[in-house]
Amino acid sequence: MARKFADKDLVLASHNAGKVREIRDLLGPYGVNVLSAGDLGLPEPEETGTTFIANAELKARAAVAGSGKVALADDSGLAVPLLGGDPGIYSARWAGPERDFDLAMGKVWQGLQDKGAQSAEDHRAYFVAALTLAWPDGHCESVEGRVHGTLVWPPRGDKGFGYDPMFVPDGHDITFGEMDPDRKHQISHRADAFRQLTERCF
Ligand code: IMP
Repeated sequence: MARKFADKDLVLASHNAGKVREIRDLLGPYGVNVLSAGDLGLPEPEETGTTFIANAELKARAAVAGSGKVALADDSGLAVPLLGGDPGIYSARWAGPERDFDLAMGKVWQGLQDKGAQSAEDHRAYFVAALTLAWPDGHCESVEGRVHGTLVWPPRGDKGFGYDPMFVPDGHDITFGEMDPDRKHQISHRADAFRQLTERCF
């Protein structure tokens, strides 16, 4: 049996104002008071895990250790099967210190060329979002959401971020970069993960 969230305050282990706003909106209906790690001055731990869930767990546990409250953390990225799952947990790091996603998308596309990618199957990819809810007694509940699609070149659209301009989700013919953000938020890996987590714990 999954453990239910029965507190009032929830610390969100993210310093990203956009994510905090989105998650406040998502958890608002459950009467949760969302506090951000940034507001509480909590440090950001190094992401030393080897899976999305391991990284979400270590971020959630660090926020619990710093606040004494239940904490929620996420970790996400793009996985390309022909590249052995890369960039995967290194999705942000592939963009270098300048967070240059034109560079990161170029590396993904070059990697596919180097592997001789030709068929639609060769260009398959999926976004992953792991979410972990961690309690002060050490208990964790984790889920992993996904959205599958195809990579295209050149990148298209400026509505998203990260790898959005080269990713066409299944059932659509536009990239996440061209898609209205409200629509993306209904079908994304994060939406999938949140649906699983709220079903499980809220
Ligand atoms: P995180 O903040 O450590 O979870 O890093 C996630 C990285 O994965 C981001 O920097 C993006 O490059 C990539 N990523 C995750 N979700 C998305 C998305 O919805 N669109 C595009 N890129 C994403």
